[in-house]
Amino acid sequence: MEVSCVKFSDNCHKWLYGIEIAGEFLYNNMSTYVSFLVLIRRKCMEKHDLIIIGSGPAGMAAAIYAARAELDFVVIERSPLSGGQVQQTYEVDNYPGLPGLTGPELSQHMREHCDKLGVSFKTEEVRSVEKQTDGTFLVKTWDKNEYESKCLIAAAGAHHSTLGIPGEEELAGMGVSYCATCDGAFFKGKICAVVGGGDVAVEDAIYLSKLCEKVYLVHRRDEFRAAAKLVSEARTHANIEFVTSATPERIEGSRNVEKLVIMDKKSGTERELKVDGVFIAVGIKPEVELFGELVETDPKGYIIADESCASSCPGLYAAGDIRLKPLRQIITAAADGANAVTSVLKYLQEG
Ligand SMILES: Cc1cc2nc3c(=O)[nH]c(=O)nc-3n(C[C@H](O)[C@H](O)[C@H](O)COP(=O)(O)OP(=O)(O)OC[C@H]3O[C@@H](n4cnc5c(N)ncnc54)[C@H](O)[C@@H]3O)c2cc1C
Repeated sequence: MEVSCVKFSDNCHKWLYGIEIAGEFLYNNMSTYVSFLVLIRRKCMEKHDLIIIGSGPAGMAAAIYAARAELDFVVIERSPLSGGQVQQTYEVDNYPGLPGLTGPELSQHMREHCDKLGVSFKTEEVRSVEKQTDGTFLVKTWDKNEYESKCLIAAAGAHHSTLGIPGEEELAGMGVSYCATCDGAFFKGKICAVVGGGDVAVEDAIYLSKLCEKVYLVHRRDEFRAAAKLVSEARTHANIEFVTSATPERIEGSRNVEKLVIMDKKSGTERELKVDGVFIAVGIKPEVELFGELVETDPKGYIIADESCASSCPGLYAAGDIRLKPLRQIITAAADGANAVTSVLKYLQEG
């Protein structure tokens, strides 16, 4: 017993000695080792003239223009399905030349167009974007890959805030909508509710009042955040009923929306609004976190850029819903993608 213990202890000492030597070597050469790793990583890093983040309509239009201009570029998209918000759209009836397509169908057409032109897509979520001292962009993904480029198009889009009430998700596209401009036409002569108290909600109610038989404007407070002028205008429309101090509780319907159940905050009682559609306008948030420190944004976070899509950061262009602009639609997103690439070409030519 004693002998085996001594033997074990001898082996142990040998191992410890080995580890100590290796540790000392690593300690003395740590900076060389780290520089070596950085060098290897940099050598393996993909470098392009342009990186497009996002493959919604803005990103895919940019990719089509970039491919036709024979630019060296890559598209990074977190979802295996291209199309962005269009994927969530039940029917798109306002994209010229392609009426009545479903959102997934239109997305697929756009993606096939990109594939035909040989566009390279990486299915990864971008984690960070840095501007390096030499003016290039370093893009890191959650898959621990790194990409470098001279220019970058931010086409990461936006997402709508939800109410999070029962029935909302289940009936999305079946009467629940987040876009009156997009879906209003499907509710001609019907009864709808708009939920929200900001400019967009009141504008949506006015827009829908011209198409629908009746519109309920449901808001949780008595006062509206929307501009007073807009609220006054809404009050002139006889078919808009203001339902204030009321919170939406649930949306009901077997196949399509049939009613919105609200809670009157003052009386504490429930009320059922028989409606065919519920338009939720409680906010939209741009996906700007990645770029927020590099570019100027408005108070809501939209990247400030004009029609050229040039942001305040040289070489970084904002296309689509992420950009501050009056109308966020598929057609305006696609137009931005085209404009952004035109600006990229100019930027690269000017060196
Ligand atoms: C329900 C609904 C219905 C609509 N209906 C219509 C309609 O009928 N007609 C119309 O014209 N417009 C409609 N719209 C609006 C239209 O879809 C948007 O204006 C348009 O999709 C914006 O395009 P985009 O490319 O700027 O952004 P998005 O479509 O939002 O695409 C952005 C892409 O970027 C990707 N992305 C974001 N962050 C990252 C990241 N960190 N790493 C990698 N990828 C990332 C996302 O996955 C997404 O694919 C609708 C919107 C919704 C929500």
